[in-house]
Amino acid sequence: MTTQIDLPLLFLGQGTDPASERGVDCPGDLPAASDPDLVARAKAAKEALGGKVFVLGHHYQRDEVIQFADVTGDSFKLAKDAAARPDAPYIVFCGVHFMAESADILTGADQKVILPDLAAGCSMADMATFNQVEDCWDTLEDLGIADRVVPVTYMNSSADIKAFVGRRGGVVCTSSNAKRALDWAFEQGEQVLFLPDQHLGRNTAVLEMGYGLEDCVVYNPNRPNGGLTDDQLKNAKMILWKGHCSVHGRFSIDAVNEVRERVPGVNVLVHPECRNEVVTAADHVGSTEYIIKKLDAAEPGSSWAIGTELNLVQRLKNAHPDKNVMFLEKTVCFCSTMNRIDLPHLVWTLESLVRGEVPNQIVVDEDTAHYARVALDQMLALP
Ligand code: SF4
Repeated sequence: MTTQIDLPLLFLGQGTDPASERGVDCPGDLPAASDPDLVARAKAAKEALGGKVFVLGHHYQRDEVIQFADVTGDSFKLAKDAAARPDAPYIVFCGVHFMAESADILTGADQKVILPDLAAGCSMADMATFNQVEDCWDTLEDLGIADRVVPVTYMNSSADIKAFVGRRGGVVCTSSNAKRALDWAFEQGEQVLFLPDQHLGRNTAVLEMGYGLEDCVVYNPNRPNGGLTDDQLKNAKMILWKGHCSVHGRFSIDAVNEVRERVPGVNVLVHPECRNEVVTAADHVGSTEYIIKKLDAAEPGSSWAIGTELNLVQRLKNAHPDKNVMFLEKTVCFCSTMNRIDLPHLVWTLESLVRGEVPNQIVVDEDTAHYARVALDQMLALP
């Protein structure tokens, strides 16, 4: 198990929490964002490293970083891409912490996975800590139902949580294969504990599998018994963890209605991490890769309002000047943790590697990696 510290949440203006700023400082010289030579420095460092470095860029990364990525993709594709390059000793993961952990789990023991800024976490993954999930499982055991509950965790979870699921015969899923994972889970047991994104769990169960909203309950880890009665826990088909994406969870039904009024014939295309009423009102729902393919196949002149991370929507808009591509919600901004990886951090990382220093290495301990891999392998074996 990796060490996890539960940090207290502080109300704005009340006290300080220096520990929450861990990773913000880089040991060494972080170039100034105003340095006009950043692009040239990144190019030079990458060229000097040659085949020794493989740079992965998640779709939600900034353009200034993506331009240096050897491959782009969603978190699982990137982890697989990293595993397909055993000859590269350094894997620089431009994404967030849980993604770098997955890459470390799937790559060789002699490969080093590096996250350019350790403060690039994921608020959704942080909403399910190992201790909280263990407490939840104890509750299910005390109720006598743990034997019939199959844990399923979204890729967007820490290695600890993936390993927890692997130890208990569960499976990891992505936003592309969540239905297949749930179909499999319901063949193994009668109920599912879905971690950590309540929206993906609910949307998949209700929109794709025919369950009702009444079949789903939300387990709040901050309340005794998850804030639920014993009967609610015993009778639910889907026990959804109270977690969400702080970007996708903000798209609203008002934005869908507004864009339909403003842009006749618009296609509303959203990610399944959005809330159920938004997904229900949309025309198309799918993973990041699905959204990209949908735009590639769209008719010239067609209009698309897209509900996913803003960096990706802007890139899609630039890539499809013959289509009318817009961001679904005016008040939603970039994923703040994804955005922590900027060009200064990438330059600092690459130049450190040129000097023979390995900064910000992400290491998952052997036992955790083993059981996380069990849950990941189960995902790869899904029918
Ligand atoms: S977009 Fe949401 S799920 Fe993705 S890294 Fe940011 S907070 Fe996490």
